[in-house]
Amino acid sequence: MHTNIVWEEFLKIAKEEAGSQVVETWFKAVTLETIDSRENSIALKMPNNFVRNWIQEHYHSLLTTHLKRLLNCSTLTIKYLDSHNNTTSTKKPEAKSSGHSFTPAILQTSSQMTPEENKKEYAITPHKSKYRSKKNALNPQYHFDSFVVGPSNSLAHGAAYAVSQNLGNVYNPLLIYGGTGLGKTHLLHAIGNAAREVNPQLRVKYETSDQFMHDFISSIRFDKAHQFRERYKNIDLLLIDDVQFFSNKEQTQETFFHIFNTLYEQKKQIVMSADMFPEEIKGLQGRLKSRMEWGLVADMQTPDLETKIAILNKKAELHNISLSQEVSHFIASRVHSNIRQLEGALIRVDAFASLTGQKITLELAQKVLINFQTQPKQSTLQLSDIGQKVAKYFATTMQELKSKKRSQQIAMARQVACYLMKKLTNESLQSIGDFLGGRDHSTIIHAINKIEQLIIDDLSIAQKIKTIKVDLTQD
Ligand code: ADP
Ligand code: MG
Repeated sequence: MHTNIVWEEFLKIAKEEAGSQVVETWFKAVTLETIDSRENSIALKMPNNFVRNWIQEHYHSLLTTHLKRLLNCSTLTIKYLDSHNNTTSTKKPEAKSSGHSFTPAILQTSSQMTPEENKKEYAITPHKSKYRSKKNALNPQYHFDSFVVGPSNSLAHGAAYAVSQNLGNVYNPLLIYGGTGLGKTHLLHAIGNAAREVNPQLRVKYETSDQFMHDFISSIRFDKAHQFRERYKNIDLLLIDDVQFFSNKEQTQETFFHIFNTLYEQKKQIVMSADMFPEEIKGLQGRLKSRMEWGLVADMQTPDLETKIAILNKKAELHNISLSQEVSHFIASRVHSNIRQLEGALIRVDAFASLTGQKITLELAQKVLINFQTQPKQSTLQLSDIGQKVAKYFATTMQELKSKKRSQQIAMARQVACYLMKKLTNESLQSIGDFLGGRDHSTIIHAINKIEQLIIDDLSIAQKIKTIKVDLTQD
């Protein structure tokens, strides 16, 4: 495969998994130089030591996991090249480095620093990577202790905790559903971690439905479908994240259905998450939907301000960041619903303070977050409102947006519609895809990514989108 294609694919996945901010900040300036399929190795070129250390420390597993999958190999060595193409040690990098010329994107929006200031050491406390090196391993940071309970998530939290203490007996299966960044993955890992504390011998398997599907597909490719199923035979606790990605994958669903039944009959615990109620997931077999709803279906809502502040304080504590009340109140009110973004805002403020050697004050937070994207998720905007408005601005019609037509103007309008629909409503990728004439969720992700990039690259488009947004939100 061509290096560019592989890297583009990886960026898309990383964006989904780690957020576009991480991609913008760390991966944008990296290039995939070579792929050596005989040696199962690749070389990544890093813009400077700072980025190299950070990526090695925090995203090595993310890179390994997904590039292995994209390149379809079971082992993969990643060489991190510096700007002179020297391979650097793949051992744990030193925590700090300085003397770099590249400014991470987190600082670019409001960076008014002198080059001297830029050179200051980045002293943010390194926290352990979200991505564990071992595939499917549980992340020890996602524990019940680090989960803040509020009215928006108390049902899901209570159910998750009960399940972890009494596997297979209380709610089986347990399905947790809710929008992105609300803590589903955190709870799934917390169940696994807590259950293992009760019984360290417990066989736990965590995976996303996406990983499940990829493993399954490669198993059929190598005629190993049988072995694939065997892998699940002796599991005590199966945690499957984001089951909406099973949508329209008939064979994968079929296999999952059998695995589910086998485990269920043996009273083994199954926990799943989804970004919407199973009934609403299109392209999911009825019998699978009904299985998912057999036990308990617990939803997660967007947190209220108090919960957001409590979560922020918890995260600050975890990262050793000291925040005054007014600053945490400010950050929490800037970010509307997504807790992942809340964390992103915190890291951004902290990174800026560390790099410039300042204390975190309200003024500093305001300055850093001036352009921070907030999402008015409470909006009552419908997909059709957005579709109509976008069509109008691009001198086309809703019908054409939903059609298969690919003329430049219509395609652009459609992509802008995808972007705004995701930003301004709570609708899932799937329902946006369905609304826009039955498009696949990956098409929608692609469109959103493309527009996000265009907003950075093309001022006139950025302006146009801003105008539509204002028009929509002021109605
Ligand atoms: P989802 O899987 O629903 O998209 P995640 O579980 O990945 O969301 O959560 C996104 C981030 O927000 C994670 O870093 C997670 O630790 C954090 N988070 C979400 N909810 C809470 C909470 N109630 N308390 C503490 N952290 C939370
Ligand atoms: Mg998740």
